[in-house]
Amino acid sequence: MFSDFNPESTGCKKLFDFQSAVLLTIINFWDLEFVIWDLLERIMKKADYDLVIIGGGPAGLTAGLYAARAKLNVILLEKFAPGGQVLITDWVENYPGFPEGITGADLVMKMAEQAKNFGLSIESDEVLSADISGPVKTINLNSKTITAHTIIIATGASPRKLGIPGEDTFFGKGVSSCATCDGPFFRDRVVAAVGGGDTAVQESIFLTKFAKKVYLIHRRDELRATGILRERALANDKIEFLWDSVLTRVDGLTNVEKITVRNVKTDETRELPADGCFIWIGIRPNSEFLGDTVKRDEFGFVVTDSDMRTSVPGVFAAGDVRSTPLRQIATAVGDAAIAAFSAEHYVATL
Ligand SMILES: Cc1cc2nc3c(=O)[nH]c(=O)nc-3n(C[C@H](O)[C@H](O)[C@H](O)COP(=O)(O)OP(=O)(O)OC[C@H]3O[C@@H](n4cnc5c(N)ncnc54)[C@H](O)[C@@H]3O)c2cc1C
Repeated sequence: MFSDFNPESTGCKKLFDFQSAVLLTIINFWDLEFVIWDLLERIMKKADYDLVIIGGGPAGLTAGLYAARAKLNVILLEKFAPGGQVLITDWVENYPGFPEGITGADLVMKMAEQAKNFGLSIESDEVLSADISGPVKTINLNSKTITAHTIIIATGASPRKLGIPGEDTFFGKGVSSCATCDGPFFRDRVVAAVGGGDTAVQESIFLTKFAKKVYLIHRRDELRATGILRERALANDKIEFLWDSVLTRVDGLTNVEKITVRNVKTDETRELPADGCFIWIGIRPNSEFLGDTVKRDEFGFVVTDSDMRTSVPGVFAAGDVRSTPLRQIATAVGDAAIAAFSAEHYVATL
């Protein structure tokens, strides 16, 4: 009977093909099973936290409030003190709920207290780098490494520099970007302020509480600041406007003694005696620790969709670090509420 076996006969060939197909399917299934298990293992892998929030300014604190209230296993990491840029803001009068205005420090202390009341844990540490590509994100801190299923980037922004001679040399010795911190040192002195936006104008007005004169140096012939601030600054006789002008250098022995200003229209340069110099020409995002993992705009701000999702699954961004048309406390807290809501939904799908 076996002698009749002819593998080339049609019946035998079909059986042979069928057996090969079954074998291949089993092998493929094993492969597939391996891939599925590997994926499941990676997804199910336990992380230290559901959510890590990086940055403790208004965005981070708000995200923390929402996440803690949603009972996520969440931690907030802040490299200095909770509060972010608002800590160095003397007076906030455009954040709703405070009709008389409120000091920046008071406002962020209340935000931190509110988040802590819902169980938010705030740790003092700096994020140096992060591997955020996989389902479990690894965050490298100064002191240790932690893991999380999802991240909210709320690292805000830092003041931009002019890049002129003397700026770095005299930083902390008369050159500053914090009127709340350094303004009181200039009682009855002459200071210069550079910029024409809301921050520059509001903080220059604040400086007039101490300084006898504030030169407000602006490269255009009108201020960019909002109407009410413009009006107040223009009516303040302690502020002298240097229109169409740029600061080109800062000089002194141990502290700032004089500044040099150039008129961009006439090219005329003049030296002015000044004891201090405040620079408010905008901000740059604190996003270096992300490397090139997340999509950024041309200025380095993190790009998100309207759910605050970045280009990397499980990674969200909120506040000043985000590519957005307006950077204020109200917009930061709004972004953060959405980011925390999105992060909560993301965690629920794991
Ligand atoms: C002088 C001044 C006056 C202002 N006045 C007003 C005003 O009157 N009204 C208003 O609405 N807005 C005002 N703003 C703008 C407002 O402060 C910001 O829009 C707001 O603070 C943005 O909040 P944020 O949480 O996104 O970022 P930030 O406030 O910048 O907070 C980011 C936090 O992240 C931390 N961080 C950064 N990198 C890391 C890291 N790698 N690891 C750990 N932590 C990190 C920082 O230390 C910081 O605390 C003012 C800003 C300035 C500078």
